[in-house]
Amino acid sequence: MTRTGKDYLQALRDGREIWLDGERVEDLTTHPAFRRSVRSIADLYDMTHEPLHSEALTVALQGFDEPVSRAYQIPLTRDELRAKGKAFKQWSEASFGFLGRSPDYMASAVAGFAAAPGILEGASFDGSANMLAHWRRMAEGDLYQAHTLVNPQIDRTKAPSEQEEDDLYLRVVQERDGGIVVRGAKMIGTAAALGDEIFVGVTQRMAPSEADYALSFSVPVSSPGVRFISRASYEAKAGSVFDYPLSSRFDENDALVVYDNVFVPWERVFAYRDPEVCHHQFWKTPAFLSFIHHGATRFWTKLEFLTGIAILIARANNTYDLPPVRMQIGKLMAWLNTAKALVVAMEENCEPVPDGEGVMPNREIAHAQLAIGPELYPKVLNEIKLLAGGGLIQLPSSYRDLLQPEVAGLLGKYVRSPGHDSERRIKLFKLAWDALGSEFAGRHDQYERFYHGSPHVYLPAIVRESDTEACAALAGKCLDGYDLVER
Ligand SMILES: Cc1cc2nc3c(=O)[nH]c(=O)nc-3n(C[C@H](O)[C@H](O)[C@H](O)COP(=O)(O)OP(=O)(O)OC[C@H]3O[C@@H](n4cnc5c(N)ncnc54)[C@H](O)[C@@H]3O)c2cc1C
Repeated sequence: MTRTGKDYLQALRDGREIWLDGERVEDLTTHPAFRRSVRSIADLYDMTHEPLHSEALTVALQGFDEPVSRAYQIPLTRDELRAKGKAFKQWSEASFGFLGRSPDYMASAVAGFAAAPGILEGASFDGSANMLAHWRRMAEGDLYQAHTLVNPQIDRTKAPSEQEEDDLYLRVVQERDGGIVVRGAKMIGTAAALGDEIFVGVTQRMAPSEADYALSFSVPVSSPGVRFISRASYEAKAGSVFDYPLSSRFDENDALVVYDNVFVPWERVFAYRDPEVCHHQFWKTPAFLSFIHHGATRFWTKLEFLTGIAILIARANNTYDLPPVRMQIGKLMAWLNTAKALVVAMEENCEPVPDGEGVMPNREIAHAQLAIGPELYPKVLNEIKLLAGGGLIQLPSSYRDLLQPEVAGLLGKYVRSPGHDSERRIKLFKLAWDALGSEFAGRHDQYERFYHGSPHVYLPAIVRESDTEACAALAGKCLDGYDLVER
């Protein structure tokens, strides 16, 4: 059976070490920087029990006693892959696309690893059985896993072992009875402080000499030595939901995660001292494509939401029927439909998993989304800001002004539009500001550009994995069709 929101919230009270503003956070469920956002995640779990959503969000899998979250399913057919996409869509709509690392994100990658466990059979360590057991345990417990794959930005020109100290980047420092001890840090742990476990891995290609840094494993968030240093909280600064409706409820937190002599039992290790396996774990299984499938579906939802905001703003300003504004809305609709088309196309054109089980999203189309999403997002924000004008800024500082009779009277007179009294207009423009211009919005702009890595990594990878020869051959055929002297 899938968890309830209450089960999830209870599991957060386990002594995990989270640092914010120089203080240790004692209880996420009551702390002003986290309480509403963890409640939003609890609501996702509760959705899996609602008759309206449970069929889409859960699935009875062979070999499991109870239905599990759809995200853990290894899709065997195109229909099953589409069903997974539908589940991603329903959950993403609950946060309007602003919870990037909801529990289904990493769950889908774990299913991707489990679809091709043979990739984890390295020359000296075989993590395949551990991964299959991990997948089962995570699915049965309906657990929430985050991931930290990237080493801290210290000196990007140097290999892990060439950094100023040996264990700035996470590495194995000891083999002990029953497991290994790891030390070092990883960035950026989005939602890592809010989950049950963290998957630690590395996608960076490394030389065999860097084997100490080439690991993948999973540890409970509350493991001794796992320490989170959180970025500034947007939820804490938000104050009220009316003033910052997104920051206050969907701040999924990002943290530097320090692994300070953390013990990892062998059964939780998937790749050990093996740069090749670490690399292949993401690229030769459906795991990374599953990340993209999830991210692309959420992106589609987010563009639906943002386009909706643009439409409501244009209606509020009574500009909706002006031809140039129609062009702007048309552009936004076209971008939104591009985002949708990429999801539909990667599902419809799914491929068999090489050396594994089931089907995976179409690789070329998924990679197109990987490259286009980060370019599209700033354009969407820019277009809506142009449409909105000064209304995004001409807002009272707080909902309290609307409750203060004297100020409310002035706002009622001067902040309004046809069909919009001051409360309605202020409510809309505050939501728009939180999506487009607040600190939370700025973080989302950066998130959409980088959450699947840096362009200098994924763009060359697209060249490596695409049929570049077919394009060159077509251009070559044209060149071969004429000569210096016309025949
Ligand atoms: C809000 C947010 C949340 C994230 N959440 C997670 C998460 O939960 N888990 C996770 O694992 N990752 C997460 N990431 C992604 C990750 O942490 C990195 O930010 C991302 O992979 C980019 O790497 P980097 O920041 O180290 O950038 P770098 O690799 O340092 O690149 C930054 C820029 O430097 C230049 N550059 C650097 N090296 C080169 C080079 N060799 N050649 C050419 N140009 C270069 C490029 O201009 C590049 O765009 C998140 C990122 C963001 C922004």
